[in-house]
Amino acid sequence: MPVKKIGFIGLGVMGAPMSRNLVMGGHEVTGFDLSAEAIRAAGNRPASSAAAAADGADCIITMLPKGDHVKQALFGDGGACEKLPKGSLVIDMSTVQPLETDEIAAEAQSRGFRFVDAPVGRTSRHAEEGKLLIMAGAEVGDLEDARQYLSLMGDTIIHCGKPGMGSRAKIVNNYMSIVSNVVVAESLVLAERSGLDLDVAIDVCRGTTAGQGHLNTTYPAKVLQGDTAPGFMLDLALKDLKIALELAARINAPTYAGAAARPVYELGQACGKGREDWTAMLQLLRGI
Ligand code: NAD
Repeated sequence: MPVKKIGFIGLGVMGAPMSRNLVMGGHEVTGFDLSAEAIRAAGNRPASSAAAAADGADCIITMLPKGDHVKQALFGDGGACEKLPKGSLVIDMSTVQPLETDEIAAEAQSRGFRFVDAPVGRTSRHAEEGKLLIMAGAEVGDLEDARQYLSLMGDTIIHCGKPGMGSRAKIVNNYMSIVSNVVVAESLVLAERSGLDLDVAIDVCRGTTAGQGHLNTTYPAKVLQGDTAPGFMLDLALKDLKIALELAARINAPTYAGAAARPVYELGQACGKGREDWTAMLQLLRGI
């Protein structure tokens, strides 16, 4: 594989190991970060600015906290686009508001660069191991070019669509995992406060939809097949939710997520979906 010149901007918890994997893959990586300590710790060739990191590069990669940082690093004073050769790839791997990704993509393209948004799933441990899940938004040809870099940082690359779609996939994914984190914690506190052994509660929940997740169990079997004949009726789900909320109120267990879910089930009932499968929730929300 030909050695490529890569400018890497943002050498924090994620960026540092990702950039090291590009070096291990045989590429010449020049790193820039606002923190001199981060540059030193990453161990790449150091640059004095984002522009310097991009000078003569085939590709610039950003791994920064927010969209504003990405704009500054690419388009600000001393930004990468001042020195990046036209036609080069700009790959933003940060988690960014997708509407800002659209702005960044349009600005990069208007300046003559090819843009790929490629935010990542999983953890810093996976970044160390080169086993991230990468969600790419890109034109097909640009993704083919970007794969030589992305495949050194991740073991799963999903093409989500045109530029901006990787960023959207990341936010959808995080919305699901961030909200479900609350209900997992609530459920375990409910278990503890109701006197259950926590390990027993975890064993039970891991064996059902609760722990295995609707996306792995009920949705593919029912609503995603267009089938909402009741397996488990929405009416019964609401009955059980009310029981849980009542128990929680008696024993002072917090139920923020449960309280937010209740009116949605009630709406389903009011809209005549009470006797349908509980996965008819998807159709209910599509209709809003
Ligand atoms: P971090 O704070 O450890 O690293 C960010 C680095 O960017 C810092 O070293 C900071 O000095 C640098 N920086 C900020 N503005 C800069 C600029 N204008 N120019 C140059 N450098 C600049 O953050 P992180 O955990 O590495 O996360 C980076 C991105 O990855 C975020 O968008 C985050 O949401 C996403 N992400 C993080 C994880 C995780 O587990 N940490 C997982 C998936 C995705």
